[in-house]
Amino acid sequence: MSEQSQPLIVLLCLDHEDLVKAVHAHLISTLETRSEVQLARTRVEALRYLSSTSRPRAVIACDAAVTRPEYLEVHHHLVDYVRSGGTAIYAGAFSSMISFYAMESIFKVAWDLPWSKGTYHGGTFVLNERVKGINHKGLEKRYSTKVNCLSNVSPNHALYVDQYEVIKLGRGQVEAAAAFAKIGRGRLGYVGDVNGQIATTAVVVAMCFYPSSRAPAAPGTGVSLPLDVDDEAQATEHDQRPSILIMAFKGISDRELYAQLYRALRRNASVTEVWDSRAASQALASSYRYSAVLIVDGALMDPEHSQIASRLAEYTRAGTRVVLGVDVAGSISPPSMKAFFSRWGLPWTSGDYGRTTVVLNPAGLPKPLRATALFPSMDAKALYVKKVQREHAVYIAGPDGWVGRDEDESPAVFARVGNGYLGYVGDVNGEQQSIRLLIEMLGVTIRPGDMGPRTVVQSASYSGGVETSRQTVVEEEIPLPPPRRPRETEVAVRAANRARVRAQKKARADRLKNEGNQFFRRSEWLQAAEKYQAAALIAGPDPTYMSNLAVALLKLKLWEAADSAASRGLMQDPTNVKLLYRRAVAREALDRFTAAEADLRRLLRLDRDNQSAKQEFNAVRRMKRSGRGYDWPGDEEMTEGLNPNHDGPVVVEDESDSEDYSHVGNGTPCKSYNHGGCSNGNSCRHQHAPDMKSVRDDLGRNVCVYWLLGTCRYGDERCIYAHDRTYLPEEGWWTNTRRLSRIRNRFAKAVEAAPRPGVTEHILAESLKPTSWRRDIWAYEDYKEASKLQQLLEADERAYADDGLPSAEDREYVVRLGGMSLVPQDEDEEDVEDDLELWEEDMREREMYAGW
Ligand SMILES: [Zn+2]
Ligand SMILES: [Zn+2]
Repeated sequence: MSEQSQPLIVLLCLDHEDLVKAVHAHLISTLETRSEVQLARTRVEALRYLSSTSRPRAVIACDAAVTRPEYLEVHHHLVDYVRSGGTAIYAGAFSSMISFYAMESIFKVAWDLPWSKGTYHGGTFVLNERVKGINHKGLEKRYSTKVNCLSNVSPNHALYVDQYEVIKLGRGQVEAAAAFAKIGRGRLGYVGDVNGQIATTAVVVAMCFYPSSRAPAAPGTGVSLPLDVDDEAQATEHDQRPSILIMAFKGISDRELYAQLYRALRRNASVTEVWDSRAASQALASSYRYSAVLIVDGALMDPEHSQIASRLAEYTRAGTRVVLGVDVAGSISPPSMKAFFSRWGLPWTSGDYGRTTVVLNPAGLPKPLRATALFPSMDAKALYVKKVQREHAVYIAGPDGWVGRDEDESPAVFARVGNGYLGYVGDVNGEQQSIRLLIEMLGVTIRPGDMGPRTVVQSASYSGGVETSRQTVVEEEIPLPPPRRPRETEVAVRAANRARVRAQKKARADRLKNEGNQFFRRSEWLQAAEKYQAAALIAGPDPTYMSNLAVALLKLKLWEAADSAASRGLMQDPTNVKLLYRRAVAREALDRFTAAEADLRRLLRLDRDNQSAKQEFNAVRRMKRSGRGYDWPGDEEMTEGLNPNHDGPVVVEDESDSEDYSHVGNGTPCKSYNHGGCSNGNSCRHQHAPDMKSVRDDLGRNVCVYWLLGTCRYGDERCIYAHDRTYLPEEGWWTNTRRLSRIRNRFAKAVEAAPRPGVTEHILAESLKPTSWRRDIWAYEDYKEASKLQQLLEADERAYADDGLPSAEDREYVVRLGGMSLVPQDEDEEDVEDDLELWEEDMREREMYAGW
């Protein structure tokens, strides 16, 4: 829905604009997420909206002014608007402002309803699902608040009734905390809550968006805000949004301060809020899983809530993010923190308290938090936690100041717990920077402007304990600093150069590939293979070249080279069915049955009806059982999870056109080149070229892989490689959390097992960067020589054969070879249909051979 097509909601705030904005900020910000909200502050403005051709979706009387004689005309218009199909709601400060007499008369005279003023009391109010014309799905089943009730309300109109009044619903008129009735063609709502509860917001929103409203996906006990589903696509999009459960047992001390948090969350997530332990337990026990839970006060650390805290810890382990923030640091007793965090298996205890400048953890942020969503630094008064492992710290105290200086202290922490995460934000003043951090910890992505402005109290005066006046300022959303890539132009120039050279190389390589296809059609396997090899050596091991090369090499019976070509292709395209099949055939010929079986298993998972693969699979298993196989080191680990190809495609390193890419020098990396820049250029003694211990960034600098893994022993200045992610490509193993943690593991284990220092380079090479493809068998093998040798070997074997007739084993082998799709590819694009045709062709061929 575009901004222009949003429904209009008019708030009549004729008297108490400030009060309405303060107490009902949450209602206003919620409405703003799905409609254009306009305030009518004067008689003229109110009349204009009520008689406008662009009819409001709903008009909310936020205070009682509209019932006063001077606004009689406005109220007449309001009644007409409703009778003709509009929705009017008395909400906000209305119920606390209206006088007894006005209440009596207004419903009887203006609306012809028997409603009159009921009691004022706090209690638990229960949703009456008999009330029609409103969607109950997004509404709290019951919630506690303080209410100015209406009396004499029909059971068909009483939307919320005191839990002790429920029984009276069957007998006649009741007292209602909220009511909703049909008037003419429209609706009239009354909401008696005086506290501006979030559950009440949901009630008002549901009334406003009648009749085309629907609750979002989150069921459970809390409030979910109804959504407009005029547009189905939009609804689906909303259903996939993160779902946030907010636990607010004590309530937030200054809601307006956190209006930005709520606004940003509501725009980008479905939000449910619970206020007591009963509702919280119910939400946690529900079969619905929230993607994140936000705890806004310290109540959970009280002994009376220990059961919920334990449940929450379990909930975290099962895969939810649990984040403590907002008023938590300001409302807990620090000694209780230790016991609380220990439920999550974390040693965190309370640390320093005070204000200082904090900076993002220079060693990198706990995954999966993104530095790009956060401020690099902020000035914050916070309650720190101690005994924090450095990798769990999001921010740490900056170099100046006296607060939180210990190595193990942090004002904001985030740690993986089981399948979920636990986060804590110690800021006590609701700084915008820490609001962003809360949002990021909750796994919600927001856009610029989603937080919007907020009102901050600058000073207030009190008299006899009652606030008499306050000075507020509107604080705009502070935008994130722009990404710090000052050398962007340089990056662009380099990228353009690379692209140009890449295109030239690709054109040359494609010509060679086409020549290879010509040879292949004439069954000249050797020439074909040489052309494919040449193509790949020029433009890199593109999966298409590798696939064609693998077939040609199979035809030449150069099994190891075929295996190597297919493996390289699979690194970039791990789900390529043809490559899997071809590699399986090669490995089978090498008697590596375990590995061949693993490939076929993967293939069948991708294409379960692949008959050739099925038969192949059975054949391989039979042979494996015969015990003739030879497993290579690592073949037995070819199971999913351990297979590096399951980390997703590996991007082949772009061989840059720049001369520094091949400038090896004396083999010692050039520190200047990787830091500020080397002025010696090509005459430098040292190496500018990439190596196994570094990753090339967009400026051509080599970034330290040890640093990226968090294990570099040298400081940022001393290390000969760059310690800077700024210019790294956006995607890489260093951004792939799963892969990174596996690499860390593998690396740590390998280092541990290493016999002596000095072998770490190889360990890194194996665990981190696939060996350069230029060292693959297919890339360096001389096919002519190799196939000569192969023919000699075969001739030898034939000479030794007893009777010259093929054995049963040989026969089976020929059948299998016939089953391969030995057709080169003309097109770079492989599509499934094409594949299926080939398999069908294979089947026919297979039948032919089977009769042989
Ligand atoms: Zn240099
Ligand atoms: Zn380093």
